[in-house]
Amino acid sequence: MVVNEIDEGPGFADLALGPELLKALSGLGYEEPTPIQREAIPPLLEGRDLLGQAATGTGKTAAFALPMLQRLHGGHPAAMEAGGGEPAGLVLVPTRELAVQVSEAMHRYGRDLGTRVLPIYGGQPIGRQLRALERGVDVVVATPGRALDHIGRGTLPLKGLRMIVLDEADEMLDMGFADDIEAILQDTPEDRQTVLFSATMPPRIDGIARRHLREPVRIRIEREAPAAGEAPLIRQSAYIVSRAYKPAALGRVLDVESPTAAIVFCRTREEVDSLTETMNGRGYRAEALHGGMGQEQRDRVMGRLRSGTADLLVATDVAARGLDIEQLTHVINYDVPSAPESYVHRIGRVGRAGREGVAITLAEPREHRMLKTIERVTRSKIAVEKVPTVADLRARRLELTRAALQESLMEDGDLDRFRVVVETLADEFDLVDIALAAVKLAHESTGAAADEEEIPEVAPRPQRPERGPRDDRFGRDDRRGRRGGGAMSRVFVGAGRSAGVRPQDIVGAITGETRVSGREIGAIEIADRFTLVEIPDGAVDEVVAALRRTTIKGKKPIVRRDRDGAPRGRR
Ligand code: AMP
Repeated sequence: MVVNEIDEGPGFADLALGPELLKALSGLGYEEPTPIQREAIPPLLEGRDLLGQAATGTGKTAAFALPMLQRLHGGHPAAMEAGGGEPAGLVLVPTRELAVQVSEAMHRYGRDLGTRVLPIYGGQPIGRQLRALERGVDVVVATPGRALDHIGRGTLPLKGLRMIVLDEADEMLDMGFADDIEAILQDTPEDRQTVLFSATMPPRIDGIARRHLREPVRIRIEREAPAAGEAPLIRQSAYIVSRAYKPAALGRVLDVESPTAAIVFCRTREEVDSLTETMNGRGYRAEALHGGMGQEQRDRVMGRLRSGTADLLVATDVAARGLDIEQLTHVINYDVPSAPESYVHRIGRVGRAGREGVAITLAEPREHRMLKTIERVTRSKIAVEKVPTVADLRARRLELTRAALQESLMEDGDLDRFRVVVETLADEFDLVDIALAAVKLAHESTGAAADEEEIPEVAPRPQRPERGPRDDRFGRDDRRGRRGGGAMSRVFVGAGRSAGVRPQDIVGAITGETRVSGREIGAIEIADRFTLVEIPDGAVDEVVAALRRTTIKGKKPIVRRDRDGAPRGRR
């Protein structure tokens, strides 16, 4: 095991970002830019247009948000106020969730610059948006339909716009927003800077880029395919879990896999610290390792790992760089890595010198595409597996107890001193019953964490075909009324895993009975006794009515619109 000095590589400071942004990033525990950030930030700071192929999970939000914040402020806090209350930046996104997420990220990055960021999306009362726009904002993050509504009312002036970002452009086209986007772009100043990010590059995206981007810099996250080396022996798999269940899923995976030593990779220092605490609270022996720690601290951590006092290392990429840990059997990606080469780098920690290693990735449903990209670029298969259930876990623990007993019997060491116990009990009890009681005691004394929480199964987001016209069932006008700017709502179905419900049953019932296509269905969470499924806002009533008419697994479960804001999967 060797610990090298941390090799910092090109950092955020090398990207000519201002001190306020650098402070915000270090406060968030970002240690180094992701590949897409490293490539996109410099040309964007120079004012170039950009066409980027990148999916969720690559760090694309910060890749456009940081340069936008810096350019709009000219690098000085509150420099925008001189420009009045009209927005200088506009980000168009396909869904309400993304609008909220992007504006929260911009808030966090731009805190010290005093940037005023406003999300506007369909489904939210327009009055509140009108008042906020009137007070003045610097950046608007909007779904195209609602943005156009405001433009039509004259409440979203575009003449002061200096930078516009189309985020997840392919997704926006898929949702029928093509005309809205064209209309918005027509209304913006000629000399604005334009950025387009898309996970795929179908011809229609190319068309938009040709019409609206000026000599754009082109960036593809997949470009840097790792050099084909000697393939290590690594079993690669992934689990799709929602964020809230990640710590539980990690615990479950560790229990089932029982690694000799594992490294868990997180994106940020904050995540490393909080996950280490969570895992220690759950009874694992975890140690944190990140770039914010001094050499001495890091040496101590490695010492504890070496001596076996700890068996779980939770680390950032930067901190783990140059580590060579011999006894490592498992690499776990707590998030999907931000680029294929980072994935390759991480999993290369195991499977060395002919030993078999295991690499497991926990992905959120929206990160599924990134997982596919990694698979394609690395030309390796990542099997998506079901998170072990409580029953799997119990079976695994019994198996471990059985193996321990078998070992004890085979060693036939000093078992004789217990003979008297068995013999006296045998006067009164059956021998098998005595053995069973002894197994029970042995099993319980292993002290395996009592993890009885069922982790809901979530389906990956449906994949969109890469090219070809979309069957846009909800025409544009129709769509506006029906889908309220692409927002999603959840439908509660009162049947779950215990009734044998699988994601395909839910998708089948919805697509068979309504006009909603499989691609329009969002995440599906299957808990023991119920299921939650995301449906485009405007189609919820139709879906609820249709599901009430049909049977699922031979039953007619309760179906209703899910209460807003109820915590996922906790009823
Ligand atoms: P995105 O691909 O923009 O959705 O980002 C995915 C996640 O990565 C978000 O949770 C970000 O907060 C996080 N993230 C983005 N850039 C970095 C970075 N340079 N270091 C660590 N985490 C990051």
